[in-house]
Amino acid sequence: AKKLGGDRAVLFNLEMNDRLVHRLEMKNHLRKAIDQEELTVFYQPIYHLESQQIVGCEALLRWDSSIYGSVSPATFIPLAEETGLIVAIGKYVLKEACRNWKSLQKVGYDHLFVSVNVSAIQFQSVTFIDEIKAILHEYAVPPNLFHLELTESTMLQNIDRAIETLGKLKQLGVKVAIDDFGTGYSSLSYLKNLPISTLKVDKSFVQSLESGSADLAIVQSVITVAQGLNLETVAEGVETLEQQLLLEELNCSLAQGYYVAKPMPLDALLEWLKAYEI
Ligand code: C2E
Ligand code: CA
Ligand code: CA
Ligand code: CA
Repeated sequence: AKKLGGDRAVLFNLEMNDRLVHRLEMKNHLRKAIDQEELTVFYQPIYHLESQQIVGCEALLRWDSSIYGSVSPATFIPLAEETGLIVAIGKYVLKEACRNWKSLQKVGYDHLFVSVNVSAIQFQSVTFIDEIKAILHEYAVPPNLFHLELTESTMLQNIDRAIETLGKLKQLGVKVAIDDFGTGYSSLSYLKNLPISTLKVDKSFVQSLESGSADLAIVQSVITVAQGLNLETVAEGVETLEQQLLLEELNCSLAQGYYVAKPMPLDALLEWLKAYEI
């Protein structure tokens, strides 16, 4: 038994080593991904439940690698964060989102907002605010149609700095959402001090929404808190009509998920929006 245990340990270490080598290789390829134009930004529509109108979209990064095929952002964003590549990648996404907003505007969709995910390292960079200002200026995007999504942990890493940066964004007119809301372990008390405008209810609660379920109680209380603080709510991961109807009943303002549409490239979004209106 002892020997078997020992072999297992060796096997485990080899697997770990393989994983490390694999991650290292992937990081090296990711380094070249921007220049090789393997990164693209997809957009997922965001739907206003009461008016049944599309009001905006979330920018979601995609990596179509010549080596690995399509890699999930859940895999490569952490690698980008570990290597610091997220700074360049994040800048690319901000620019693409603004450039693509311009394309939407040119064909008449000048009321839609675009919402961009921001990593902690990006948000904490001393040049972040100046970058945002410069990009909005370059593409003449109205700040109120440009939203940012940050997680609770990003804001809580340095709450005083975060409040300061969020204050500057608010002054610019840029709206900020807390992403994956409800998955953190922090208390609600910090919320009242944060100059934010939106809570995005995490999809883990939305996906199992059913009448009488615990998740319904959780989503309901998040919406109640949001209303009390004058914040908008977006439910993410809405996959069924039943979920959408429950959210409507709970007075959730916005919904996003496969039930309305999956994330898609800009061209497809333009086609989809055209068909949606008919
Ligand atoms: P997220 O910000 O929570 O984005 C929502 C995720 O849910 C997206 O996954 C989206 O495709 C997926 N989704 C949307 N509707 C549904 C649905 O109805 N059902 C299910 N099961 N999933 C749905 P995606 O695109 O794979 O992105 C994963 C995560 O990667 C994002 O989670 C975000 O944290 C991160 N990410 C993506 N793009 C960027 C980026 O440009 N910058 C940064 N920093 N992170 C990004
Ligand atoms: Ca998000
Ligand atoms: Ca989310
Ligand atoms: Ca997330």
